[in-house]
Amino acid sequence: MNTATSERLYKEAEEHIVGGVNSPSRSYRAVGGGAPIFMEKGEGAYFYDVDGNKYIDYLGAYGPIITGHAHPHITQAIQKAAENGVLFGTPTKLENQFAKMLKEAIPSLEKVRFVNSGTEAVMTTIRVARAYTGRDKIIKFSGCYHGHSDLVLVAAGSGPATLGSPDSAGVTKNIASEVITVPFNDSESLKQALETWGEDVAAVLVEPIVGNFGIVEPKAGFLESVNELAHANGSLVIYDEVITAFRFMYGGAQNLLGVTPDMTAMGKIIGGGLPIGAYGGRVDIMEKVAPLGPAYQAGTMAGNPASMNAGIACLEVLQQDGVYEHLDLLGKKLEDGLREIISSHSIPATINRLKGALTLFFTSHKVSNYEEAEQSDGKLFARFFQKMLQQGIHLAPSKYEAWFLTIAHTEKDIDETLLAAKRAFSEMEEE
Ligand code: PMP
Repeated sequence: MNTATSERLYKEAEEHIVGGVNSPSRSYRAVGGGAPIFMEKGEGAYFYDVDGNKYIDYLGAYGPIITGHAHPHITQAIQKAAENGVLFGTPTKLENQFAKMLKEAIPSLEKVRFVNSGTEAVMTTIRVARAYTGRDKIIKFSGCYHGHSDLVLVAAGSGPATLGSPDSAGVTKNIASEVITVPFNDSESLKQALETWGEDVAAVLVEPIVGNFGIVEPKAGFLESVNELAHANGSLVIYDEVITAFRFMYGGAQNLLGVTPDMTAMGKIIGGGLPIGAYGGRVDIMEKVAPLGPAYQAGTMAGNPASMNAGIACLEVLQQDGVYEHLDLLGKKLEDGLREIISSHSIPATINRLKGALTLFFTSHKVSNYEEAEQSDGKLFARFFQKMLQQGIHLAPSKYEAWFLTIAHTEKDIDETLLAAKRAFSEMEEE
């Protein structure tokens, strides 16, 4: 495969853009380095790169592109917004319309606020939880990613429930000391953390279905115990549904699982591919937000007409009959095919899948928390990633990411992908 133009553009990018990329996850450092592929065009389930190569896309832009690229209904909505003027700095009726749609889909959102990214949404839920409870600390789960605001760039220490340490230069030790990290799917450690720091804990923050160390579902009863333990302690429960909202069904993971948080942060899919974030929850909590309450949050671009229109259009597409059934069907076909390949080769691998999202871990053990996800062999993943790319299958360049299906993917795409995966496994076995 000729990728000379991508290589040239990457060299140029490195001269002007730090690291050559505008988000570190786009770099190929974790998969052996080299130039990331520069895309020219996306259409349905496919990418076309600057050298004219075609790929089946399983990146889905890290989650938002559930309808496939350039879905005509969303494209039209964006065009219409552009013609009407993209930004007013005043309220528009689109914001009402979209807020109502979100509330109908996810009933725990008694009041919502639109922001511009998942990072902002999560960051603000934490601020509001602190304002509501008058407490400073939060508890989060190791390996979950909640954007790049200071408070959530805190890594676990060693031990089941620990005060964090900065996970990024520039995050102060003081900030890290406000975050307690416990293993996902481990109610006992959460209980222990609440016993130790309980009076100071404003909120427990969790991805109800994890998307950031691969797709990992909560064990039966885990989220119920998060609610019980947090509430008994006077702490709030915040769901980070930036990946999960509208991924597995029309609504949130909370609808699917039947567990209700006090506040929810969203992003990705709800913008139909344009920048967006949103947060919401119980009205008595949300009323702490300015201009009604003392917790400040604002945004020049927040609720802008283009993002609103794209988001509404995206949800309209997702309301159509059969959308989530199609994603599940294709997901199952992909999972079954990959399992067959795994079982007929000697490479250790396992799969976690929920509906149209899956992760292939290069470990023979099952994965239900970050520690287990870390066991996935990064070198094997890197080889697999490169071999798939060479065959026109575009995965996320990290062993921790999910493969995201879109409604534009077809059974034929899955067949092609499985053929490529079979070849990749066979070559890896022989090498
Ligand atoms: N929360 C979760 C669960 C995410 O996966 C992400 C992004 N990958 C974020 C928050 C941050 O969202 P954004 O990149 O839009 O700031």
